[in-house]
Amino acid sequence: MTELQPPSSAIWVDVVVTTPAHSGLGDSLTYRSERPLTPGALVRVPLGTRETLGIVWTLRDEPPAGLDPAQTRSVGATLDAIPPLNERWRELVAFAARYYQRALGEVALSALPPALRDLQTEQLARRLKKLAASAPPPSGTDNPPPAPSPDQEQALETLRATIQPVLLFGTTGSGKTEVYLRAAERLLRDDPHAQVLVMVPEINLTPQLEARFRDRFAAHGVVSLHSGLTPAQRLKHWLTAHLGQARIVLGTRMAIFASLPRLRLIVVDEEHDPSYKSQEGARYSARDLAVYRARLESGHTPCQVLLGSATPSLESWHAAEQGRYLRLAMPGRIGGGALPRLRLVDMNHQPRHTVIAPALVQAMVERAARGEQSLVLLNRRGYAPVLACHDCGWKSDCPHCSAHAVFHKIDRTLRCHHCGHTTRVPRACPECGNLDITPLGRGTEQIEEQLAGLLADARRPDGQPVRVARLDADTTRTKGSLESRLADMHAGEVDVLVGTQMVAKGHDFRRITLVASINTDGGLFASDYRAPERLFALLMQAAGRAGRDAAFVAEQGSSVELWVQTWYPQHPLFAALARHDYPAFAAQQLEERAAAQMPPYGHQALVRAEARTQEAAQAWLTLASQAGDGLPGRNHLTLYPPVPTTIQRVANVERAQMLLESPSRPALQAFLAAWQPVLQALRTRPETRGLIRWAIDVDPLSI
Ligand SMILES: [Zn+2]
Ligand SMILES: [Zn+2]
Repeated sequence: MTELQPPSSAIWVDVVVTTPAHSGLGDSLTYRSERPLTPGALVRVPLGTRETLGIVWTLRDEPPAGLDPAQTRSVGATLDAIPPLNERWRELVAFAARYYQRALGEVALSALPPALRDLQTEQLARRLKKLAASAPPPSGTDNPPPAPSPDQEQALETLRATIQPVLLFGTTGSGKTEVYLRAAERLLRDDPHAQVLVMVPEINLTPQLEARFRDRFAAHGVVSLHSGLTPAQRLKHWLTAHLGQARIVLGTRMAIFASLPRLRLIVVDEEHDPSYKSQEGARYSARDLAVYRARLESGHTPCQVLLGSATPSLESWHAAEQGRYLRLAMPGRIGGGALPRLRLVDMNHQPRHTVIAPALVQAMVERAARGEQSLVLLNRRGYAPVLACHDCGWKSDCPHCSAHAVFHKIDRTLRCHHCGHTTRVPRACPECGNLDITPLGRGTEQIEEQLAGLLADARRPDGQPVRVARLDADTTRTKGSLESRLADMHAGEVDVLVGTQMVAKGHDFRRITLVASINTDGGLFASDYRAPERLFALLMQAAGRAGRDAAFVAEQGSSVELWVQTWYPQHPLFAALARHDYPAFAAQQLEERAAAQMPPYGHQALVRAEARTQEAAQAWLTLASQAGDGLPGRNHLTLYPPVPTTIQRVANVERAQMLLESPSRPALQAFLAAWQPVLQALRTRPETRGLIRWAIDVDPLSI
């Protein structure tokens, strides 16, 4: 047998690659390299029978114990046309993988543009050459901005003086975007290399924001990063950011992982928006990572994070209350426009089977006749259905929790998603005997049709029939259809726009004087404790679409109104809404959360399992729970029994989940880290046959 001695120049490197989930392959693989490599360099390495893209993570003086040098394979080509990913970027990715309980390789490699995986070194070199030739065109000058309002001036002044995370609490229409623009502008002027990351919930819904940034920073290279780009575009944008050519990156949640070597400012617009939380793979929160990333970057060069919202998440609000974030309030609307007046429609006092109250229909008819527009909001988030009796107000509450039990149609049960308590659906209301108990917040399907019928005789100022249009995921699937519908609305071609939460986002419609929420109650009493927070944000945001053009409203002599239909007009949420009083609402909600030890006072993780049968999914979760006994942190944790998920069967796959809670985040993290390998080992147990996959969701947004 011949002794294979590695050449003396060989070094050992740990390379991070994408390995299959739960493969047990570890975070990185050791290779040898005959030439010196730098951490963060992109390399091609053999993996099994194929070659794959990897990131050099650590250099070693000697091979790890137990590794047979003769069996160790060598690193292939290095993509040395691309500068290595810097240490802060690697730390960010490593933190995200640890915190959200995913493989490092999965998180790191999925943060890179997919096209990078398939490009040969020479192809890449050619692309980079082309980029270098085309960039940066500092032709022309940035466009001059409008004069800032006193509120904006004040906010900018405070921003300049702090390095703390800042929560910009600005009412809809207060001009938060102008603050972002000016903060970015100042930075780009003061530091010739500085880069700015601006995150938005959904880029295609707010083309105006992108246009404003492009317009203002014409000379500075603005690129976008989001899932709507072609692979070639995404690669190009990623590279210009990584090379420092793009000074401003505008993107959705994925952009939090962009490589920005000179990052000095991160803006998270609409920071409360649930779309910042990923719902697949590594279920990270881009907002939370933004705060973490700014701190990481600040270890190198000061980097500020600016979270903006009219209705901040309770997590951020709480952080501001505690002094961890600096709160900046901008209470006034630009142009002095008033926020809409709330008009509650008590559905208890409407004719039987009313879907849209006659007074509301009449109000829309009058507005259309005057050439004003109305916006009708259908609250159709995937709320878990809670049963209610409209006669006496009974709701399917859990007897053990401050939570509502969820109606599971499949086996006619009511289940608490918090503690797992299960009962059969009663035949009649347990309080008053009413036979007509129904899930709250249902029945949105026919609203548009009904509305069209109710408005059939209404006329526009030109005598033409009133035009109703719909805006939701179904009607905007084809390319360009969203843009054209929005354009119709802006042009006044449409009188009544009906839609899901999509209609509430950031649009700057000028002629809307009435906003109506038709089926509001699903958000008041959903099983999900975050539902009221979401509802309040949605209603405030929708309300913010009305009366944006104060001059138009004054000219029309119209009043700006938010109509809300509800069976529960006494709910405290509406009292706060009527005063546009987010702080009061937040205080009330935080009090409830504190009493129940819910986030942000307690910390949660959710384990989801998918299996061929519901029994198998739950059996695995039960085993998982038992296997957690004695692990670090376990004493500070509550593990609840498994429950089926709200939508329990999808394409013949059964799904169940189990909630973990702890007052201590470190305890929860320590437990999860120790639990992962134990869970992987469970797969070999015969009881778990039929299990398809499982995943952990840290800080879940809905239970
Ligand atoms: Zn009843
Ligand atoms: Zn319960």
